[in-house]
Amino acid sequence: MADTPIKYRPHHFLCSLGFQGKGYSDGFTANMSAIVMGQLRAPGGDAAIIEVVGATDDICTPCPKRRGTLCESQDKIATLDARHARALKLFVGSQLTWGEAKKRMIKHVPPGALSHICLGCQWLDLGLCEHALSDLHGKD
Ligand code: SF4
Repeated sequence: MADTPIKYRPHHFLCSLGFQGKGYSDGFTANMSAIVMGQLRAPGGDAAIIEVVGATDDICTPCPKRRGTLCESQDKIATLDARHARALKLFVGSQLTWGEAKKRMIKHVPPGALSHICLGCQWLDLGLCEHALSDLHGKD
């Protein structure tokens, strides 16, 4: 497990729960797979430490939509981050483990909630994230 915390903007916690290998480019998908499959979902992944950041993060690094520390869809992304931060009680600079993040999802994000907090995301209609959230609640 890496010693340095993974850096995540707020909405990427739930994106990581629902991630099924789809992304904005091959490079984006390979990087996100390395973080999600290679660290968070690997044995011991619940202990991985994640630091909350308020701009582009470790998922955004190779994204073709990244513009420096911003996104080409910055307004939409900022709105997603604000909704997700409120839902999961995340603050920039705080650190939590992936296991703790999943506990917060169970406690604060009921099945069906993504239709509101993820409104505007192009991946929402695929249903993968909502399916993963339901599965997580099923393991509660
Ligand atoms: S619907 Fe979009 S913003 Fe919501 S968890 Fe999935 S990928 Fe992330």
